Amino acid sequence: MKNYGFTTTILHNDRQKTIEQGSLHKPVHTSVAFGYADARQLASVFQGKEPGFRYGRQGNPTVSALEDKVNKMEQGVATLCFSTGMGAIGAVFQALLRAGDHMVSSAFLFGNTNSMWQTVAGQGVGVDFVDATGVANVEAALKPETRIVFVETVANPRTQIADLKRIGELCAQRGILYVVDNTMTTPYLFRPKDVGAGLVVNSLTKSIGGHGHALGGSLTDTGAYDWSKFPNIYENYKKAAPAQWGIAQIRAKGLRDFGAALGPEAAHHIAVGAETLALRMERTCANALALARLLEQDERVAAVYYPGLESHPQHGIAKELFKSYGSLLSFELKDGIDCFDYLNRLKLAVPASNLGDTRTLVIPVAHTIFYEMGAERRASMGIAESLIRVSVGIEDPADLLDDFASALDA
Ligand SMILES: *Cc1c(COP(=O)(O)O)cnc(C)c1O
Repeated sequence: MKNYGFTTTILHNDRQKTIEQGSLHKPVHTSVAFGYADARQLASVFQGKEPGFRYGRQGNPTVSALEDKVNKMEQGVATLCFSTGMGAIGAVFQALLRAGDHMVSSAFLFGNTNSMWQTVAGQGVGVDFVDATGVANVEAALKPETRIVFVETVANPRTQIADLKRIGELCAQRGILYVVDNTMTTPYLFRPKDVGAGLVVNSLTKSIGGHGHALGGSLTDTGAYDWSKFPNIYENYKKAAPAQWGIAQIRAKGLRDFGAALGPEAAHHIAVGAETLALRMERTCANALALARLLEQDERVAAVYYPGLESHPQHGIAKELFKSYGSLLSFELKDGIDCFDYLNRLKLAVPASNLGDTRTLVIPVAHTIFYEMGAERRASMGIAESLIRVSVGIEDPADLLDDFASALDA
């Protein structure tokens, strides 16, 4: 296929392969089982000697078409889809880590990923949380048994940006698998492969699906990691070339055994949403920057966190590495303005969890998504009790700005 641009590639990808009845969308295949006229062929598919589908938990034609699209977006070697972003992250742990291993994770994390790593830490894998905005903190935490370094691009909700490039260089030097959660940037704004990430996580629920109507997640093997250096690959998955070992083991241990398979209907919704990813990101990033600037200038606002602002500590990294600054911003109101009252005055922005929707969503972080972890850990992550997270949508810019400004005036 010719080297088309980002959107052209997604729009026309299904048609590069034979597609049933000339259908312009990959059809939704709801069958769980796949029949073969020749029983020997069934055996051969099971033994991985020829391509084909076995059972819905391990692969499905509709899901596979989406995997191919995400893989093109990330320019990876192979991509697997999961029922949710957490399913994809859980599969990393399930497939690749063993008791006695060690992992270094950014301390600035999506709340449920943070919770998952706490669980992992209770199951015999050492986990150290570090401030990944500085590579020295990551380096200081490495041990001989460190297998994985895990970071997010733009951390939710405070928008800290990991020292992505230098951590990639460090992992390459030490032969450690570098896993980057690209959900907040999406492959349209940034490709973690460019900074040496071996595995890329995307929550497809967020901007890639983009309309808040389907859950999904993915893991992409970028080809940057040399799996022959990874000590936890089982003999069974070493049959093909080393470039295939990781994805083979993740497909078996992470997807097949862990079982968080993406359903075909959700895959279809996400694939349709993905067609407009670039268009939506352009609009949402422009809206987010305008809103961040408006809030930053207002004396009733105590702090605004958005990588597009010059005042953001990692603005330089964002400018260098990302096409634009994303849809996530957060801010704190001055003492005396109740964050609940403020949110209740917004007419368009919806108090709701979720990110990367077409609609602008707002949430009081400490009282909802970060409530369970307690005040002490919140403080260590820089989460003020009044912090409001905004997932900026694609509303008309004037309407959006007016909504946030009017709620301040009231
Ligand atoms: C939402 C999110 C996840 C989890 O994805 P789900 O699809 O909700 O399971 C993981 N990482 C980040 C950065 C997220 O925003």
